[in-house]
Amino acid sequence: NIYLIMSDSTWPLAFIVIFFWVYLMLVCYRSHEEYLRNFNIEWSLQEKQEELKVFSQTDFLTKTYNRVFFNECIAQQWFLALRNRDDIALLMIDLDHFKSINDQFGHLFGDECLIHAANVIREIVRRRSDMLVRFGGEEFVVVLPQTDVLAAQKIAENIRSAMCKEPFETGSVKTQLTASIGVCSILPIGHDYKVLLHQADEALYKAKRNGRNRVEIAALNHVENVNK
Ligand code: GH3
Ligand code: MG
Ligand code: MG
Repeated sequence: NIYLIMSDSTWPLAFIVIFFWVYLMLVCYRSHEEYLRNFNIEWSLQEKQEELKVFSQTDFLTKTYNRVFFNECIAQQWFLALRNRDDIALLMIDLDHFKSINDQFGHLFGDECLIHAANVIREIVRRRSDMLVRFGGEEFVVVLPQTDVLAAQKIAENIRSAMCKEPFETGSVKTQLTASIGVCSILPIGHDYKVLLHQADEALYKAKRNGRNRVEIAALNHVENVNK
């Protein structure tokens, strides 16, 4: 047995080996725990970073993209369209007489209307490459890559008709929402992306001038003239 194998001189060595072995086990256990803890911290940090990124790109009220994200993305979308020789379209959507809705029913109801309007647009603008942005108070922008003017006009018309299809109602308050929409679609060659915004905006004003709850298309001749 073990007492026979071990001589007096080997006992101290055996003691040191056992002590060292226990020490190693403890160190392994501690570093394993530390590794797990660090792994979890890193994991949740990454999740938080992702959340923060989404948060910084999102409009708080309507959960659409915000203007900051739009500014970051539009140039990129523009150059992609330029490289692929594709049309790119932009819809500028403005809710009609929104101030009087706020004045009549209060800002909280106004906020509900904005959430509803964003959902209506989201239902129609479904391609993953499309981008819905809350551009300002009651204004939304939709960017539609690879979309010619006829397709963009059709989408705008679908949004307009869906918006006024039935009155929006929450609690005991009910109102009819309508939207005016300016549409611009161009081949980016020789243009700056601001032309797209500018022309959609002009078309929106035309829609307002012509009676609201309507879609107007940017005059393409004018787009060409602007860039000569
Ligand atoms: P138009 O048909 O010419 O567009 O008229 P309008 O009343 O919609 O336009 P106007 O620019 O005069 O008013 C926009 C209103 O949108 C005024 C502002 O109180 C309201 N608004 C902007 N942001 C918000 C918001 O976050 N929540 C609410 N409830 N209202 C907002
Ligand atoms: Mg407005
Ligand atoms: Mg308005």
